[in-house]
Amino acid sequence: MEPIIGIDLGTTNSEVAFVFDGTAEIIIDNDNGILPSCVSIGENGNIIVGAEAGNQALINPERTVLSVKRCMGSDQKLKLGELSFSPQEISAFILKELKGRAEKKINHPVSKAIITVPAYFTDAQRQATREAGEIAGLEVVRIINEPTAAALAYESANPEPQRVLIYDLGGGTFDISIVRIEDGVVEVLSSTGDNHLGGDDFDLKIVDHLLKHMETEFDYSVKDKPAVMARLKRAAEGAKIQLSSAPYTTIEEDHIGKKGFKDLHLSLELSREKFEEMIEEDLVRTMESVNKALKDASMLPSAIDKIILVGGSTRIPRISQMLEEKIGHLPHSEIDPDMCVAIGAGMQAGREMGLEHSGVLVDITPYTFGTSAMGEIDGVPSATKFVPLIRRNTKLPASKSEVFYTMYDNQKAVDVKIYQGEAIDGLDNIQLGNYMFNLTEAPSNSAIVLKFDLDLNGILKIKAVEKKTGNKINAVIENAISRFTNEELSDTQDRLNGFWAEGREPETFLKEKVQTGADVNELPSEYADIIRRAEAKLTEASEDDRDEMINLVEDIRDAVMNNQMEDAKKFKTELDEILFYIG
Ligand code: AMP
Repeated sequence: MEPIIGIDLGTTNSEVAFVFDGTAEIIIDNDNGILPSCVSIGENGNIIVGAEAGNQALINPERTVLSVKRCMGSDQKLKLGELSFSPQEISAFILKELKGRAEKKINHPVSKAIITVPAYFTDAQRQATREAGEIAGLEVVRIINEPTAAALAYESANPEPQRVLIYDLGGGTFDISIVRIEDGVVEVLSSTGDNHLGGDDFDLKIVDHLLKHMETEFDYSVKDKPAVMARLKRAAEGAKIQLSSAPYTTIEEDHIGKKGFKDLHLSLELSREKFEEMIEEDLVRTMESVNKALKDASMLPSAIDKIILVGGSTRIPRISQMLEEKIGHLPHSEIDPDMCVAIGAGMQAGREMGLEHSGVLVDITPYTFGTSAMGEIDGVPSATKFVPLIRRNTKLPASKSEVFYTMYDNQKAVDVKIYQGEAIDGLDNIQLGNYMFNLTEAPSNSAIVLKFDLDLNGILKIKAVEKKTGNKINAVIENAISRFTNEELSDTQDRLNGFWAEGREPETFLKEKVQTGADVNELPSEYADIIRRAEAKLTEASEDDRDEMINLVEDIRDAVMNNQMEDAKKFKTELDEILFYIG
């Protein structure tokens, strides 16, 4: 039987699951089931994915991409050093790594996957995800929504009838879904959210706070210092995570900068209360989405039997508090918020492989899709009145046709516009695309049938048919991500494979070039040696030691370059002590 894997392709972390002996399990590699969604390029041109790439972000931020999921569906170009990649290509590197993990564990080539996306992902974002899979050599059998996958994982352990609210807040996206579980069917009743809200935003709020502090305390600006920004971001995330379990934390970053000859050391206490104040507005917005989801499902808060939390950011205690205030009971804490999406994807993958599982999936679209036509908006004639074809919260797959009529005799063409949104005026919605449909000569009022097909993956296909002649065209969505031709796909795969060393060894991060542009080899050998030794030990070091080692390496380099040999010697001794201690 051909294996199908389930992948949670997250903003911050990704996981892959597979059904072993009837149970979906996270595939563990080197004791770790979580793969940080970080991609960087090493000095030898090979791609590094995961925790090592995350570390590289500190030393060479310009050679690293984090949170690529936030760019999916856009035509942004992402830089890895001198090279430029599409968001799909960067995501493909993450998928390739997960595919490799799975192949190693299953001991079989893998070419098919289920990939999860936020329920609130748009059509372009879903297409981009599918493309990323294709580039990585994975046929994406199905895209499922993250909260739905979480519900599947939950259902298998709790099959009794109930209504479940799934609050999913990860690194970059927020989703809220209401699901009914009954007789082995997981049915999504409503779904809403925000594609650009998550833990990354909370980190940036702390970073802002730190920048202000550094400006007032040291009169020091971090502008144009990507390495310092990367350290502040990492410190901010660490502080945020600590505040989930402690009322106070101190952010300490030694040697964060230099003012003249003076080293600047950052040390700032942050309380949970202050942090909660910073993010209160965002959390209130998530609660407004809870209200919207309840309203869409025609439910009162009291009708919710269980609240499930998904995503790392839901560990922030204020979220459980707010949900308790709103719904009247605390969230359910049995299922692992980091793993349940991948587990659900793995279960669905097992189902696609024909293995027996409980939990049939009935998903919905969180968006309304439609077109525009002549009509009245607030009593005023308009050419852009929005005509919804598939309404939000419709079960998937959904198919809907509507007939439209030409306005003039011998009308040459009709410009069909496709929108996503709820506004009465099409212009106030998101235009997914438009295409010209050339018509044959005919009197006015000739019929054109427009058909929308929204598949199980939430991907929209459009067809327009001239009724009289049967002439038809399929949609060309100009501003959505273009689909690859087979040739383009194979070119992209080849290009990416060029960066992908087979059976590659873990990369080292401090190779050769150091951040100032100075080559390690140019340093006196005693300093070059210790930097190389530090480089080799970085992966073994604890997070604290690693930060200190990175700081000391930079200090040594700065001191040597500025001919401050006394300082260089002192830093070398300190680094030596850490290396001795690590063994
Ligand atoms: P996910 O996308 O589900 O992997 O979630 C990742 C996000 O969760 C990142 O922004 C993390 O910083 C955040 N996160 C992980 N653990 C915690 C925690 N204990 N408290 C607050 N945020 C956390």
